[in-house]
Amino acid sequence: MRKSMKRSLGELIISRLSKIYKIKKNEFAPLNFKDPFLILVSIILSQNTTDKNAMRAMKSLISAGIKKPQDFLQAGNEKIKELIRVAGLSKQKTETIMRLAKWSIKKYKGDLTLLKNEDPAKVFKELIGIKGIGPKTADVFLVFYLKARTFPIDTHIKRVAKRLGIADGSYDVMKKELLEIFSDSMKAHILLIKHGRVTCKAINPKCEKCVLNDFCKYYLSSKSNN
Ligand code: SF4
Repeated sequence: MRKSMKRSLGELIISRLSKIYKIKKNEFAPLNFKDPFLILVSIILSQNTTDKNAMRAMKSLISAGIKKPQDFLQAGNEKIKELIRVAGLSKQKTETIMRLAKWSIKKYKGDLTLLKNEDPAKVFKELIGIKGIGPKTADVFLVFYLKARTFPIDTHIKRVAKRLGIADGSYDVMKKELLEIFSDSMKAHILLIKHGRVTCKAINPKCEKCVLNDFCKYYLSSKSNN
């Protein structure tokens, strides 16, 4: 597909999905924070759970006055583990957040707003060097905070893109393909996840009601097989 055709397809998908979905802030944890450290903590907390649970854990931390990297280290693992329990995998997530807090203090004196001046590729590399932070978490941060041109692929996006027939393959291959299609990766990321949660569900996707069904590979091939 030519580059201009890919862009038109991306615009069509965004325009149709924007018309049917209203995005609420609490559906995407990182949308609720301006501070880069808290954005990262919220993304870590939302790993393997819902954004709703991640937000509950964030509220517990903030109510306990724990907001800055130094506050986390001062509180200690046991207290953090308790406060974030609702988000699941609390031991693992606490350890990741603590490593992130130490890194923030060591490299940026606890002030991650300094990342605004850095090259996103360098930030990505540094973040994935922290155990517990993978490419998806780093890319979500890059898109939400640095507004960088990257495309985080989560399970919903993977499934929706694959079914539509617009991207497939490894994390990096899909990322490249989706970047060619969508000019606003943050908007596309949010809308495709919402579509995966509401309509293009893993089991029993609501294809008959789907606004993308006229060009969806999965739907068209299932119809031709019937
Ligand atoms: S038509 Fe079905 S499979 Fe295709 S995007 Fe819509 S819900 Fe998903």
